[in-house]
Amino acid sequence: MKERGILTVISGFSGAGKGTLVKKLVDEYDNYALSVSMTTRAPREGEIDKVHYFFISKEQFEENIKAGKMLEYAGYVDNYYGTPREYVEKQLEAGKDVILEIEYKGAMQIKKQMPEALLLFVTPPSAVELKRRLVGRGTETAEVIDKRMQRAIEESDVVDKYDYILLNDDLDVCARQAHEIIQNAKYSVSRTTDFIKEIRNELLQIAKGE
Ligand code: 5GP
Repeated sequence: MKERGILTVISGFSGAGKGTLVKKLVDEYDNYALSVSMTTRAPREGEIDKVHYFFISKEQFEENIKAGKMLEYAGYVDNYYGTPREYVEKQLEAGKDVILEIEYKGAMQIKKQMPEALLLFVTPPSAVELKRRLVGRGTETAEVIDKRMQRAIEESDVVDKYDYILLNDDLDVCARQAHEIIQNAKYSVSRTTDFIKEIRNELLQIAKGE
C-alpha cells in the first residue's frame, strides 16, 4: 500500500466549530498533522503566533505569494489567509494525514492542484445556531459578524463541490465521523491507483516467471 498520507481540507461556515473539531482530531488520533496557516488578520485574545497562525504583515504575505511559497491563499473578510507549501508536502511525504482548515476559495485551489484531496464541509445544525455561536464567541464586532454571515450565504452555494458534509451538533460524534471518513477515503480505489498498478506489475512478473 502506498505510504503517502491523505490531504484533507476542512471548510465550513464561520462559527461551525471547525477549529475545535480539527483540534480534537489531532489530539485524539495519531497520524494527523495540522497545517498552520499564515494570515494578515490580528490575533484574537489567546491566539499564539506560530501555533494558531503565523501572523504576518500584508507585505510579507505578498512576498510569499511571489516566491511561490503558498500552496493556496485567499482573501477573507478584509484579510489574506494561506497555506505554506513546504510543511504540507513534507508531512504528506512522511506518511502523515495532513489537515487544512481553510475557506472554500482555497479549497477549490487545492482540489484543482491535488484532485486526490478529500474535501469536508462542516455545518452547525441550523442558521440560527450559527448566528448564536458567532455572537456567543464574543471575539468579533457586530460588523464583522454580519460580514461572516454574508460569507456563509456565499459558501452555502458551493457546498456541492465538497465530498462530505459533517453536521457539528455533538463534537465527539462529529470528530469520530470525520476520522472514519478520512481513514476510509484513504482506501478508495481512486486514491490507490499507484498501489493497484504496482500489484498488477508484480502479477505480470510472477506470471512471466512461471
Ligand atoms: P478565522 O479568522 O476565523 O480564524 O478564519 C477565517 C476563515 O479563514 C475560516 O473560514 C478559515 O477556515 C479560513 N482560513 C484559515 N486559514 C486559511 C488558509 O490558510 N487558507 C484559506 N484559504 N483559508 C483559511
